Amino acid sequence: MSYIKINRANFYHNLDFLSKKLGSKDKLAVVLKDNAYGHGLKLIAQLSCEYGIKRAIVKTEDEALEIEDLFEDIIILNPDFSIYKDNFSLVINSLTQLKKITNQKIHLKFDTGMHRNGLVPKKIDTTNLNVVGVMTHFRSADELSCEQFWQQQQWKKLKDIYKDSDVLFHSGNSATVLRSKIYEDDFARCGIGIYGYHEMHDSFGEFNLKPVLSLIAKKISSRDLKKGDRIGYGGIGTLSHDSTVSTYDIGYGDGFFRHDGKSELMLNEKKVIGRISMDSISFLGDDEEISLIGDAKKIAREFNTISYDVLVKLNSSIPKEVV
Ligand SMILES: *Cc1c(COP(=O)(O)O)cnc(C)c1O
Repeated sequence: MSYIKINRANFYHNLDFLSKKLGSKDKLAVVLKDNAYGHGLKLIAQLSCEYGIKRAIVKTEDEALEIEDLFEDIIILNPDFSIYKDNFSLVINSLTQLKKITNQKIHLKFDTGMHRNGLVPKKIDTTNLNVVGVMTHFRSADELSCEQFWQQQQWKKLKDIYKDSDVLFHSGNSATVLRSKIYEDDFARCGIGIYGYHEMHDSFGEFNLKPVLSLIAKKISSRDLKKGDRIGYGGIGTLSHDSTVSTYDIGYGDGFFRHDGKSELMLNEKKVIGRISMDSISFLGDDEEISLIGDAKKIAREFNTISYDVLVKLNSSIPKEVV
């Protein structure tokens, strides 16, 4: 059966790299939403906890419950207010949500220009509320433009409004941390960077991050075929020479991509033959195992998307092994 290898040394390398940039481990909150970007929520939570990370960020209460014993603070980005624990804190995106709150710990999320969600940036009456954080999210942290600078100015104004409140300020994602000379908030919320990637323009420089996940497919069968033989659905993959072709146990049903086989596709330097099916993919050669994702960014380019998308789609049921 296909499986995912999680490289612990690379994960810790990325946590080291980001916490050094931030000045300390305590300023690094790990973003574990969406099954830890496909890496396995519980597994990555466990490794983060062993490393000494105290704060994690997830999307839902269900995710928070799975890792409740591992962190001092678990921030829920999109709470449905169904359940609450002492080490949970909830992100508030609107005044309507604020009305559902009694004494739960909350982070007020402000819309400083992304216009996706969050409160209008102004002083809110917080008497009777247990506000522990004031936060925002940047829309252009990984873009090469002055927009990030502009939005950071809005954020500074907002921090000024709340400077006398006893709250933690947090705004940055991975790209914000990577591009900042000094990160001034109390902590940053890092997702993609901890998994070894960023999607920033090359001119920001090289960042020493290492991919954590590899997706390994196992051979189901091999066959020796003749020049002109056609492989897979629609017979799209035609052999130009007599070749050995093997089929492996990953397809778009596992959260990998479908490819129609009409153009050449190289995955991790191996040539795909024919269409990618729901549960299988064929390559030249007869290796017992093939690594389909070594570098998620390279795969992303083949499918006109970004590393986040490649990782997050992987089915949570694919077994994981820490190496
Ligand atoms: C997903 C998310 C992050 C993490 O962003 P990365 O680019 O993966 O570091 C940070 N903050 C919020 C609010 C998010 O939704």
